[in-house]
Amino acid sequence: MQLAPLIGKPDTGRVIHVSAEPSNHERVADLSESGRPPVVCVVSLGCAKNTVDSERIMAALVQNGFWIAEDPRDSDICLVNTCGFIEPAREETAATLERIARWRRQGRPRCLVAMGCMVERLHTVPEWKSFLHAADVLVGFDAYLRLPELCRQWLQAEDSFSSFPAAAEDPRGQPGLPCGFSHQPRLLTGLPHSTWLKVAEGCSHACSFCSIPLIRGPQMSRPVSEILHEAESLVRSGVKEICVIAQDTTAYGRDLGLPAGAAELIRQLSRLQGDFWLRLLYAHPRHLTPEVLDAMEADSRWCRYLDLPLQHISDPMLRAMGRGLGREDTLRLLSDIRARWPDVALRTALIVGHPGETEEDFAQLCELVRTGWFLHLGVFVYSEEPGTRASRMGPKVPRELAEERRRELMEIQRQVSARTLASWVGRTLEVLVDDRAPRGHLPKEIRWVGRHKGQAPEVDGVTWLDPDGHYVEAGQVVTVAITGSTDYDLIGKIVRTGTSESAPRT
Ligand code: SF4
Repeated sequence: MQLAPLIGKPDTGRVIHVSAEPSNHERVADLSESGRPPVVCVVSLGCAKNTVDSERIMAALVQNGFWIAEDPRDSDICLVNTCGFIEPAREETAATLERIARWRRQGRPRCLVAMGCMVERLHTVPEWKSFLHAADVLVGFDAYLRLPELCRQWLQAEDSFSSFPAAAEDPRGQPGLPCGFSHQPRLLTGLPHSTWLKVAEGCSHACSFCSIPLIRGPQMSRPVSEILHEAESLVRSGVKEICVIAQDTTAYGRDLGLPAGAAELIRQLSRLQGDFWLRLLYAHPRHLTPEVLDAMEADSRWCRYLDLPLQHISDPMLRAMGRGLGREDTLRLLSDIRARWPDVALRTALIVGHPGETEEDFAQLCELVRTGWFLHLGVFVYSEEPGTRASRMGPKVPRELAEERRRELMEIQRQVSARTLASWVGRTLEVLVDDRAPRGHLPKEIRWVGRHKGQAPEVDGVTWLDPDGHYVEAGQVVTVAITGSTDYDLIGKIVRTGTSESAPRT
């Protein structure tokens, strides 16, 4: 059996402390039959915000004497941090739990726990418990701070897991993570040099289609001092890219009575010393003010990259969705950003098939994408979520039609992306080297993979790298001459293991 004291990369795993005292909990080494510490595996589904929650839970477990395994089959307890905000996410949650339950029947893990958003959704849609039937125990947000203690109880309980109350069945007040959870340290997973910085929980918007406020509650921004403390710890631990996340980063601070909180947070983060990239994700266009853009512009470490979830462009749809800005406002905002930063990389998310979407609405969406504003695009088929306003709206758009619209938009974007990236051949770019390139389907001279400032981790394309004789390490920023492109990726040759960019061709 292969065990790792830390998940992911045992040699580089780091616990990042954020104003947390070491725990006094009793060590649990004696609870395992072999005399070794008990082993937990945390499987994190869904978005980067869920990943950060999983990292806080893993750090608490490590501090309490648990070992962390990468593979559920090496663990005593497997915790699955679920996602449930749309139908495909619920299906992935159910399939993941069923796969691990099959391994449990063969002996490991001994206990399978479901926690996170899908469990929280049972408060409003109890019949969705069927998606979680393979789990032994359900854990709601309110139990997150007690997980080390609960894991210890489950290990002692052996086969009577069902006797534990499912947290999601308990009555509760306002949804959301427990107070104090964001103070918890993190055990960083994923790339050692790139990570997320979650600045707020929940969302106070009332978009017609979205169940997030039902699951995660209203927005609760973290204090600036706490965020800065975590960011400093990340930089000290060697992180070279910090991606700022929340449900809506540009609304940061509004719940604290700070209408310009996002701009102030950007300015404060810019005061951190060091050589690293900063990236703003999940920026609701309604709050993307000139002050926010000014704050980013004042520090070149902020990537000229914006993730702006527009969701739609036609006025009737934007009104129905409750997005708080119309077509003209949106197009003006895009023009202003482009005028300010001609080479900005824009990402957006769109929804097709929202109730009431007509052929005319969809044609406007096609035109928006065809115009070529976006280097990166995600298109989602509308998913009817109980309890949301849109679930009571009509007329419904047939699922097959919505799927067809999604395919059509993605094909337009494929052409836009391929054309745009081809025009980048000949430029030189700064690229953050992420990892060795996988062997097999790539030309043999491509040895590394990285991202330029216009490519966010996990969601965008990548830059494939020919080291051309240079010594390269992951986490290094290199200068790359772009020599080719595919539909979504760039290909380049490293010309220097340092930085120096050329302007885009006009
Ligand atoms: S801004 Fe709208 S779409 Fe985004 S999480 Fe909040 S309610 Fe959902």
